[in-house]
Amino acid sequence: MNADDGGARKPAANKGRRDAEFLNQLAGRSPRERRIALLALLVHRGGSLSPQWSIESTAGYQYWPGLPFDLHALLSADLEYLAVNDYLERTHFDRVHRCGECGSHLLNIREICVECGSSNLENLPVLHHFRCGYVAPIGEFESRGRGRDCPKCGHAMRNLGTDHEIVGEQVRCRSCGVTFDEPLVEAVCFRCGAKTAGENLASSDVWGYRLTPLGQSAARAGRLYVEEDERLVEPETQIYRRGVFLKLLQDDIRIKARYRIPCSLIVVRLRYADPANLAAAERAALAVIDEMLRNVDQIGRFDETGLMIKLPATDADGAEIVRNRLVERVGAVEGVRVAAALVPLREEGGLEADIAAALNAAG
Ligand SMILES: [Zn+2]
Ligand SMILES: [Zn+2]
Ligand SMILES: [Zn+2]
Repeated sequence: MNADDGGARKPAANKGRRDAEFLNQLAGRSPRERRIALLALLVHRGGSLSPQWSIESTAGYQYWPGLPFDLHALLSADLEYLAVNDYLERTHFDRVHRCGECGSHLLNIREICVECGSSNLENLPVLHHFRCGYVAPIGEFESRGRGRDCPKCGHAMRNLGTDHEIVGEQVRCRSCGVTFDEPLVEAVCFRCGAKTAGENLASSDVWGYRLTPLGQSAARAGRLYVEEDERLVEPETQIYRRGVFLKLLQDDIRIKARYRIPCSLIVVRLRYADPANLAAAERAALAVIDEMLRNVDQIGRFDETGLMIKLPATDADGAEIVRNRLVERVGAVEGVRVAAALVPLREEGGLEADIAAALNAAG
């Protein structure tokens, strides 16, 4: 779902108002109660939440129009808490420019003169006379009857494309008369009037959210998993939470670099014949994976159907053997299709993007 998805705006707005009524009752509740209620609400709303553009809000968007500002801020912070703790997954909605002074999204972004800052600009075509090769803005070619005269060679130019062509554009400032190739970009804030140069404009990402399997499980259980061991793995499984696993992996990558101890990462995409029976099929696939792994190997969640398997002290050749065996054995589980790939572990970062790319490439 992205910002261009403008369909069904009305029903979405109605749904948003109903949600606001529900959320209004959460104002006096504890953070834990609010967060569980948010997860439950997301389950009822199909598992995801997208912001809506909103001219009334300083940020430019709202998740629930009609909610008091303070409560909205509180619940937005709850969404972030749930995302950081792997109950929700962030989905990129859009990027918004903001006023450098007051933070408002209400900006008039326009091109201005490089000399005087005026926005009173006009674009002039630049002409090229074939006969003599002269190139200049259109104003230099004197208009005469049906055509123009070339100031360099004096000949008449009559037909665009036949004896002359447009090779580009120049910008002229109507206020100070200067001509230039590239205007500057500047934003004026409709709210406070501050002017900000385009390159200094602040921007921030706007996020939507989607329930993770952990979030779905917490909503069903009606509680967040905050006990010591529950903070690491998903309930009743050995699957490390995404955030936890990625931290463990970062440590292994550092050790790999410092002590030259190899470490490999396999990503696995599981596809289920029966999406309604996803949890059971995943359990069956995991049982097979578990049998193949050593005690030191760890499984982590990447997304709903994507798992990561970390093989410490295993080089790429060894990991390839595991990968092959895994595809063969998990592929034999009824109702499960599997694809797996090795992920190169680089020290320079970009780990999550590498994992996502490997999962996509695997299928
Ligand atoms: Zn402003
Ligand atoms: Zn000017
Ligand atoms: Zn000429």
